Amino acid sequence: MGKLTIDEMATFCKRKGFVYQNSEIYGGLAGFYDFGHLGVELKNNIKKEWWKTFVQRRDDVVGIDGSIISNPKVWRASGHAKGFDDFIVECKKRKQKFRADQLIEEVLELDTHGMKLEDIKRVLDEYKERFEKEGYDLGEPKRFNLMFTTNIGPEQADKSEAFLRPETAQLIFADFRLVAENARLKLPFGIAQQGKAFRNEISPRDFLFRMREFEQMELEYFVHPEKQEDCEFIDEVLDYELNIYSAEMQSKKENMEKMTIKDALDKKIIKTKWHAYWLAQMHKWFVDLGARAHHFRIRQHVKDELSHYAADTWDLEYEFPFGWKELQGLSNRTDFDLKQHMQHSKKDLSLFDEETKKKIVPHVICEPSQGVERAFLVFMFDAYNYDEKRENVVLKLNPKLAPVKLGVFPLVSNKKEIVDKAREVHEMLKCCWTSTFDTGGSIGRRYARADEMGVVACITVDFDSLKDDSVTIRARDTTEQVRVKISELRNRVKDIIK
Ligand code: ATP
Repeated sequence: MGKLTIDEMATFCKRKGFVYQNSEIYGGLAGFYDFGHLGVELKNNIKKEWWKTFVQRRDDVVGIDGSIISNPKVWRASGHAKGFDDFIVECKKRKQKFRADQLIEEVLELDTHGMKLEDIKRVLDEYKERFEKEGYDLGEPKRFNLMFTTNIGPEQADKSEAFLRPETAQLIFADFRLVAENARLKLPFGIAQQGKAFRNEISPRDFLFRMREFEQMELEYFVHPEKQEDCEFIDEVLDYELNIYSAEMQSKKENMEKMTIKDALDKKIIKTKWHAYWLAQMHKWFVDLGARAHHFRIRQHVKDELSHYAADTWDLEYEFPFGWKELQGLSNRTDFDLKQHMQHSKKDLSLFDEETKKKIVPHVICEPSQGVERAFLVFMFDAYNYDEKRENVVLKLNPKLAPVKLGVFPLVSNKKEIVDKAREVHEMLKCCWTSTFDTGGSIGRRYARADEMGVVACITVDFDSLKDDSVTIRARDTTEQVRVKISELRNRVKDIIK
């Protein structure tokens, strides 16, 4: 069976209670989604695993949780208030507005990475006839700012206008000095944050891929400006292999190439060790949680595509059913943001370097910025299997991510002793793991339902259980069944979930 389309995934997510269109009873709202019971559990597990890996298990990273609305000066300093734009173009015939680069990619199948407004204009002019043939009568493309605005307090005037944050990162810069001092951090170190971000996307689409309200997991990794090459962890990843698609490979129209981090550094494809280290770490995080390594590549931004603040940017891309797309951006943001905030706030955000006894402004050597919902899609796509023999979907999510770890079933629902015993088992397990209790339909039907939810193991209480205090555990991925004493159940489950 081929890969599911994004629409089929959306249908599956709705049917199983993972994700719903927001305010569906009123016709929905484009770019906004609600997460159902299974969805919120999966999303929380993704965020928890990310936080564990990149914050709690590291001595060099601490976290913050900034607010969604900040003093608007934050967004003036960062450049978002003026320049966080996409290009919009209106079709008079269809009475619809489109994101110009996306329209070009779709209709002309041209690569638009790095295109500026002039390039977009030129392409639209050059292919005017082709667009007309396809039923578009396009106007002039224009800049469109993606920032959502709101008003604070009872005064609905210009001076009360504020922005909903379009990324979490800027709060890390604004709070930088306080966090660094309170946590007594010494360079190199990172500050991480998870939380909501809002972008008034011109055409939200592809289900959770492009939303107007979403969540990010971001990490700013700061280094001493004169020690950008001193990556003490690089040995951990030198042999790690990645599919690499450099700017040069793109310009020469070559294919991506699988190579080790060591080769990529030796050949100067990836410029700094820290950048290479974080690229490998972020890829490894996905793979360790069950995503398939060959569905990923890292793609370097081509020259014209680089943001004004970035010295180098690589995207971790995933092969979605609608093509290779950005899953995570990893930029070398230099000292741009701290300097901007120093200039605009007139506050000193530099650190004192004990060695040289001088003040320094640290550089963000890498900023891995990951959308939670795009990660959600990756794990769902790579877990989704239609099992011909079972004739149902088996959602093979890594046990750490599975929204419900266990299912407890009484073999029959009309024998009170069996139902009571099963409930006792469910109550016992529920203290440690998410567990569902299901009495509805045949046992086969209940297994199928559990498979589709990604339940890692099902536990059945039957007639023999009343005599020997044993139950049957059935594993989701293999359907293998083992008989276990109830007294040993917790330990067995612990092994399975591990
Ligand atoms: P794109 O090129 O797809 O618009 P971007 O380059 O604007 O993405 P960044 O600003 O680098 O994205 O944001 C970091 C991450 O946040 C992205 O890699 C993605 O995972 C997530 N993200 C950004 N915009 C959206 C969105 N509209 N919906 C869902 N996730 C998003």
